[in-house]
Amino acid sequence: MDAPPVMTADAPIFEPGAFRLTAREAELTAKAREFGARVLAPRAARWDREAAFPTDNYRDMHAEGLLGICIPEEEGGLGADFRAYCLTAAELGRYCGATALTWNMHVCSTLWTGMLTDDLEMEPATRAEHLRRRRSHYDRILRKGAIYSQPFSEGGAAAAGAAAFGTTARRVPGGFVVNGKKIFASLAGHADQYGILCTETKEGEKASRRDTLYLAVPAGAPGVQVTGEWDPLGMRGTVSRTLLFEEVFVADDAALMPPGVYFQAATRWPHMFLTLSPTYVGLAHAAYDFTIRYLRGEQPGTPPVKRRMYPTKQIAVAQMRVMLEQTKTLWFQAITDAGPDPSKDQVMRALAAQHTVMENAAAIAALAVRTCGGQAMLKSLPLERIFRDSRCGALMLPWTAELCLDRLGRDSLYEKGEADP
Ligand SMILES: Cc1cc2nc3c(=O)[nH]c(=O)nc-3n(C[C@H](O)[C@H](O)[C@H](O)COP(=O)(O)OP(=O)(O)OC[C@H]3O[C@@H](n4cnc5c(N)ncnc54)[C@H](O)[C@@H]3O)c2cc1C
Repeated sequence: MDAPPVMTADAPIFEPGAFRLTAREAELTAKAREFGARVLAPRAARWDREAAFPTDNYRDMHAEGLLGICIPEEEGGLGADFRAYCLTAAELGRYCGATALTWNMHVCSTLWTGMLTDDLEMEPATRAEHLRRRRSHYDRILRKGAIYSQPFSEGGAAAAGAAAFGTTARRVPGGFVVNGKKIFASLAGHADQYGILCTETKEGEKASRRDTLYLAVPAGAPGVQVTGEWDPLGMRGTVSRTLLFEEVFVADDAALMPPGVYFQAATRWPHMFLTLSPTYVGLAHAAYDFTIRYLRGEQPGTPPVKRRMYPTKQIAVAQMRVMLEQTKTLWFQAITDAGPDPSKDQVMRALAAQHTVMENAAAIAALAVRTCGGQAMLKSLPLERIFRDSRCGALMLPWTAELCLDRLGRDSLYEKGEADP
């Protein structure tokens, strides 16, 4: 059985006045907070316990218009831009990490094909065709509640951006034939379309990242198979199983971006890789909120025992607050910086923000468990799930915590083109 709805009126993660949010951002984040507390929070333990995909949440998110949050308004969506989306996703992540993370994969299919490609260069005819194609994808989402996923990991160096994708697309009349494998494919078996990144093979040419294609493969297409188990530490509701593609035909209109545009996006709009972080901003906040409620004796499901008078608890909460403020402030600036052709400083800030969010979410959750103690880490309460979910953030390619440090170190010491003799 689901837990009763969380009725607390949680304060916004980003106070609209203090952070000068736009009216649209204030409205979307308020909607997400209300929806998260009422709908997502009571169901979150179930998806986690059963490692089951949150299908009911997707049905309700469709009804609320949230599946089309980044679809432009003129196409029938809510028209959120990058920052408005990130702020809204952080609010949802507070209540169910797995839903917010999988929703991110879905939303990116519309954000990348929408606002992001609007900023990139294309021939007028190519753009006209892209607009026509994306409209058919948007239509499917808005009218039928279609869910898109975003599997790009393959277990090699491609997802880190260091090599061409091993999954291939061979041109044939009317479309492509896809072959390959994607690991950790969140929403596997539950999405209607798999938005895969793959390399277009060209006769006599070496595979190149410039030839990356972004194609929507219908889940029911012949040759698509979901394999493997899903029984991980955290983010269990993402159902990130393995996808196999064997001689799968995909029509031309399945293209989510024209050829060459994904490579342009990855190089000119690098903040696109920051979209995995909002979920973890939400989780960090949830761990902090839980600790405050618990120490004040106000956490539902626990006896009304106050523990706030102990100096050790106060110091731990102060440490959590310092980390939370550092995380939020840096992240807010990074999502505000997002746009085409950012400066080197802006890219480094985005990497620093991603690293900080992912590492601090896990650290704040660990501190919450230590501070609240044994009674707080029972499975009947959300903290232990938040603790496990938050541990997964640093592993997300292409901007894992390790790779962020790698790039930050190198880019701090070397300017473009510089090398040592
Ligand atoms: C809950 C969850 C959901 C996920 N959902 C999705 C999804 O929907 N779609 C998707 O595409 N992926 C998804 N992933 C996969 C994720 O992005 C990573 O691809 C996956 O965790 C990689 O695991 P690995 O051990 O194979 O990484 P490896 O490739 O073995 O890398 C291990 C570590 O080595 C480092 N590393 C990797 N490559 C390099 C390099 N070239 N140079 C230097 N260091 C490197 C990185 O820090 C990395 O963390 C998900 C992962 C999790 C945990």
